[in-house]
Amino acid sequence: MIKIGAHMAITKGFSKVPEDSFNIGANTFQIFVHSPRVWAVTPIKPNDDVQFKENLKKYCIDPQDILVHSGYLINLASPKDDMWEKSINSMINEIQLCSQLGIKYFNVHPGSHLGEGEEFGINRIAKALDTIFKKTSPDTTVLLENTAQKGGNIGYSFEQLGKIIKTVQNNSRLGITYDTCHGFDSYYDIRTKDGVRKLISEIEDSMGFDRLRMIHLNDSKFDLGAGKDRHEFIGKGFIGIEGFRTFLSFDEIRKIPLLLETPGNDADHANDIMTVKSLL
Ligand SMILES: [Zn+2]
Repeated sequence: MIKIGAHMAITKGFSKVPEDSFNIGANTFQIFVHSPRVWAVTPIKPNDDVQFKENLKKYCIDPQDILVHSGYLINLASPKDDMWEKSINSMINEIQLCSQLGIKYFNVHPGSHLGEGEEFGINRIAKALDTIFKKTSPDTTVLLENTAQKGGNIGYSFEQLGKIIKTVQNNSRLGITYDTCHGFDSYYDIRTKDGVRKLISEIEDSMGFDRLRMIHLNDSKFDLGAGKDRHEFIGKGFIGIEGFRTFLSFDEIRKIPLLLETPGNDADHANDIMTVKSLL
């Protein structure tokens, strides 16, 4: 059986997420641990963490399949010292909440060098991660997400992600998330078997395939290589239903948790989950 879920709201408390996920046909999920548009991290309400863990058991969700997505303000590649330090501190706080909730995986966009160049950005990110790993518990694994090729984004190629991993000291705490929309934006064409094989072998060559721990399953509103990063419902975009059928025909892909970041609400996600299941 595949592991599949969607990005879920935490507005009713963390403890409600396992049931909400179960109700849309999911057996895992992704969440933010606080409002992603502010720096401040709100502490977890008393007992919400305990109830959260109990409800994971109740709905048979393995904490090792869950992903926390970092806030949007974090930029570990920022050339501005104050932003860089704020990013490091915010990520430390978010990872501590992850540990408190017993969640294993934490997803972050590597960051943007804002014009300072790729090498600068990669070293800056690696240095930030060295600090973050010294100040957080080793139970959390950080996943670097591949990005759309736009702006000064680092991480649109596996070569770049591999370089970050090689530069970080304690890199056993690092893996990657593959986002199908961002990948499609950066010319990874998963609509053909050859395209998927190329993707798998590039990950293998750059860092080892076992670094791939999560997949963000999103269709793309724009065509191959557009670099626009606009997610679409599964089958309704340029990857399309046959594209996802091809992608999911690979055992290597199906064994990894699939998390939707498609538009809409829980009902729309339930629909996307049904679509994915119908392809298997
Ligand atoms: Zn994503």
